[in-house]
Amino acid sequence: MSTHHQIVIIGGGSAGITVAARLKRAGASDVAVIDPSDVHYYQPLWTLVGGGRARDAQSVRPMSWVIPRGVHWIHDSVTGISPESCSIALASGDTITYDRLVVAAGIQLNWDGIPGLADAMGHDGMSSNYDYYLAPKTWENVQRTRSGTAIFHMPAGPIKCAGAPQKIAYLAADYWREQGVLDNIRKIMILPTPGMFGVKVWSDVLVDVAARYGFEVHLNTVVTSVDAAAHTMEIKNNETGETQTLPYNFAHMVPPQSAPDWLAATPLVDADSPFGYMAVDKFTLQSTKYPEVFGLGDCTNTPNSKTGAAIRKQAPVVVENLMATLKGGVGSGHYDGYASCPITTSRKKLLLCEFDYDLNLRPSLKGVDQTKEIVDYNRFKKVGLPRLYWDFMLKGRV
Ligand SMILES: Cc1cc2nc3c(=O)[nH]c(=O)nc-3n(C[C@H](O)[C@H](O)[C@H](O)COP(=O)(O)OP(=O)(O)OC[C@H]3O[C@@H](n4cnc5c(N)ncnc54)[C@H](O)[C@@H]3O)c2cc1C
Repeated sequence: MSTHHQIVIIGGGSAGITVAARLKRAGASDVAVIDPSDVHYYQPLWTLVGGGRARDAQSVRPMSWVIPRGVHWIHDSVTGISPESCSIALASGDTITYDRLVVAAGIQLNWDGIPGLADAMGHDGMSSNYDYYLAPKTWENVQRTRSGTAIFHMPAGPIKCAGAPQKIAYLAADYWREQGVLDNIRKIMILPTPGMFGVKVWSDVLVDVAARYGFEVHLNTVVTSVDAAAHTMEIKNNETGETQTLPYNFAHMVPPQSAPDWLAATPLVDADSPFGYMAVDKFTLQSTKYPEVFGLGDCTNTPNSKTGAAIRKQAPVVVENLMATLKGGVGSGHYDGYASCPITTSRKKLLLCEFDYDLNLRPSLKGVDQTKEIVDYNRFKKVGLPRLYWDFMLKGRV
């Protein structure tokens, strides 16, 4: 069966739903969202779930609740896109055609990207906040750990919320401090980057935070394999080439990430991206190859930090520019790379890092020095940001 919609959005995640709501507000009459998932997640809360500060159920709602009124929901998976014929192939065998397409398909978690990781994941002290079902396990493991070696890992390559691998490290360490067992635990952080963060002012603060808890930080380092049976992992310093085998009693692991395979196989791909991301103009968010196609969120090759906060600024740009093309014009929407990363540095404090493509600081809290840790974030991160997300961003109001 083939069906036509004026505007089709692939993905009903943070980006897809926000754009759908904004398109309806802008007067678009025929909008469809394709997504196979029955539920929609507010993923930033998974950090707090793993850190014992929130419950998993608070991060999920039925997809039917978040699809904006008047938007068609096509409950199916996209398997391919033929931009030359403006058509989309679905897993059911149906075809959808469009006048305009928005690709918001999110990122793919490659659990097989590190040999042994998939086998070890979820067992014997290893978990990940990057999955709804595994985040509660992180908290179980944090509480169970009283001694031994704890490893916190970030993979190479772009990932969503690059601050999340560190956030859980500090939440766990602060809990162990409260429990009086911090010094009994060897705490190791493995980062592929040359520094703790891409912006120097916050990188310097994080050096102090990690030292405060006694972390051994391995920079420029990756995990090359995990041995589930032996409870060890192999690490390699990419600068020196040195390798080591580390034992673990606790491990928080983040899988390598890429664009979804089916998206990387379409003509929309950035051929220069080793991770298969979709090619868009980084300011207009329009496909560099097909003017009737736009893309935003985690699946594109824009060099911003992949966060929901970035999507909040990208969505109005996509809507403005897409609607302008429907009237035969060119939109003036311009995305400057804004992203925000609230890094929890303890169970009460956070660093609110906000910056753009040029790594300029973009603070949004008036009268607050955001280069320092903000004390008592609980209301902000646990109550304020989720409310901003569910009640305002997903409804196209901010
Ligand atoms: C642990 C963690 C902590 C985070 N912390 C923060 C934070 O503090 N602040 C922040 O701003 N961001 C944070 N993020 C990042 C943020 O959640 C993501 O950047 C954001 O959700 C990306 O939105 P998206 O719409 O691009 O992708 P998603 O929200 O992942 O949505 C993608 C959608 O595409 C659908 N889809 C997939 N395949 C197909 C297909 N074949 N056909 C149709 N649909 C498909 C999926 O079902 C999904 O609904 C965090 C993420 C994690 C995991």
